[in-house]
Amino acid sequence: MPSSEDALRLQAMFEFAIDGIIVINHRGIIEEINPAAVKLFGYSTEEVIGRNVSMLMSNPHRDAHDGYINRYQETRKARIIGIGREVEGLKKDGTHFPFSLGVVEVKLQDRIIYTGFVHDLSTQKSAEKRMMELNHSLEEIVEERTNELTKTVNRLLKVKKELEHEVLERKKAEDALLASEFELKEALQKEKVLNELKTRFVSMASHEFRTPLSTIMSSAALTGRYEEGDQQDKRMKHINRIKNSVQHMTGILNDFLSIGKLEEGLVGIQLEVIDLSNLTQSVVEGLHGILKSHQEIVITDSLATSSFSLDQKMVRNIMINLLSNAIKYSPEGSTIQLRLDQVGEEIRIQVQDQGIGIPEEEQAHLFSRFFRAANAMNIKGTGLGLNIVKSYLDLLNGRISFVSKQGEGSTFTVYLPTDLG
Ligand code: ADP
Repeated sequence: MPSSEDALRLQAMFEFAIDGIIVINHRGIIEEINPAAVKLFGYSTEEVIGRNVSMLMSNPHRDAHDGYINRYQETRKARIIGIGREVEGLKKDGTHFPFSLGVVEVKLQDRIIYTGFVHDLSTQKSAEKRMMELNHSLEEIVEERTNELTKTVNRLLKVKKELEHEVLERKKAEDALLASEFELKEALQKEKVLNELKTRFVSMASHEFRTPLSTIMSSAALTGRYEEGDQQDKRMKHINRIKNSVQHMTGILNDFLSIGKLEEGLVGIQLEVIDLSNLTQSVVEGLHGILKSHQEIVITDSLATSSFSLDQKMVRNIMINLLSNAIKYSPEGSTIQLRLDQVGEEIRIQVQDQGIGIPEEEQAHLFSRFFRAANAMNIKGTGLGLNIVKSYLDLLNGRISFVSKQGEGSTFTVYLPTDLG
């Protein structure tokens, strides 16, 4: 039995507890209810004492409550007792509210009662609800923003792609424009050079062709006068003059044609296996007709083998140009040395004369088109031969150099690669 002090202490706890306390009997009838519970449910003490506790519950617990107690008493299987759970309460004014319920079974001497502790969860629940709502709306906002952001990013990506495509297209157009501009400039430049060439040709032909043409005219007229049989020598002399004049004019024409073709990019190399020693012999023989009196060409052929894969026409042209210059710019009775040998992987062709030489200050311009040295002005020429030689050697991956001293002579050296094809 509790002492009266214990009873007082319990009474005070019951009266002043913040949570509600309800005592029911084994049939669910409310025996005691503290002020906190009374206040919570909105009833007066008198209105609830003696009535079934289910009046304070909302369905489904309300209708099932009697069954709960009976089942517990039969099976001793607790659903709430000693466990506690969250249930929904029903106030006098009909409103529902959540509370957590803890129930203890109290065994008195003659019977069993149940004490229920009621803790109002309305504030906590509504706070939770608000939090959830907030969370939800936050989630919604975040989702919305994320969607917007994704859309914006996608739009930007699309724009970026379009821009990149446009940049690429423009670059292509620009490149094409630059290429066609370049081609146009090149074509214009070519056209300009060709036009200059034509102009130069017309003025040069009208000047350079005059002398050989009048030589041809007079020699032809004179030849006609030598009617006697013993005048064959004189006839031959004039026939040779005619031949030389024609050869000279053909040379000029050929040089212009070669330059024109080179300029138009129409010259390509055509390799064939040739005998360089034989080719040299035939070039030298072909030049006998233009040798001055007592001039001679001495060939020193030191080639171990003379079969090479070369462009015959170009090599022939290079040799003819260098040798005819040597003949033209050196005096009667002089010797021209032509040396052939192989240095490493290259063929070396040297043409040495004892002629007028090239003034030192003019040597730098020697391979420029139309260039003629001051000391060569009273000797016929176009200033095209060496330029053509240089162009051919560029095509053949070869090179040319020279040493010369005015009044003493010149040596031109050509190197040709042997592994062209
Ligand atoms: P061309 O002989 O028709 O004038 P080239 O292009 O062959 O044209 O030669 C250019 C110039 O180089 C010549 O006008 C001459 O001044 C000089 N030259 C070329 N070869 C010799 C040489 N063997 N001796 C002296 N001068 C030369």
